Amino acid sequence: MPTNYIYEKIIVKESNVHGKGIFAQISITKDQRILLIDGEVIDAAECIRRENEENNVFIFWKDDNTYIDTSLTEKIKYINHSCDANCYIDEDENGSLILVASRDIQPDEELTIDYGYDEIYDECSCSNCDNKLDSAA
Ligand SMILES: [Zn+2]
Repeated sequence: MPTNYIYEKIIVKESNVHGKGIFAQISITKDQRILLIDGEVIDAAECIRRENEENNVFIFWKDDNTYIDTSLTEKIKYINHSCDANCYIDEDENGSLILVASRDIQPDEELTIDYGYDEIYDECSCSNCDNKLDSAA
């Protein structure tokens, strides 16, 4: 198993964005690796089935027929969406999905990613989304 980066320094608590969120207890520098996105590896058909039948919203896209179901994990499943996200998903040398900082992050700042699917922008109320709606109108 590769090192799980700064996994131990990431905590779950109430979010200002939505429900629970994940937060760093230490400062993180841009491009730093934060944690591995672990979970159950499933294919596209199983992903669709779990999303439709089980309302599972904790599945990460890896490639067209590989998805990671994080619903049994303790931390990454709680990451919230922001259009002004401070993290992104990447792949490491072993082909594992990892969470990486897209800019410097202060201690106790909520970690967020851009979920990147259209429906999220309908529900999102961040100032960036307001800008998107304005520019689309
Ligand atoms: Zn937004």
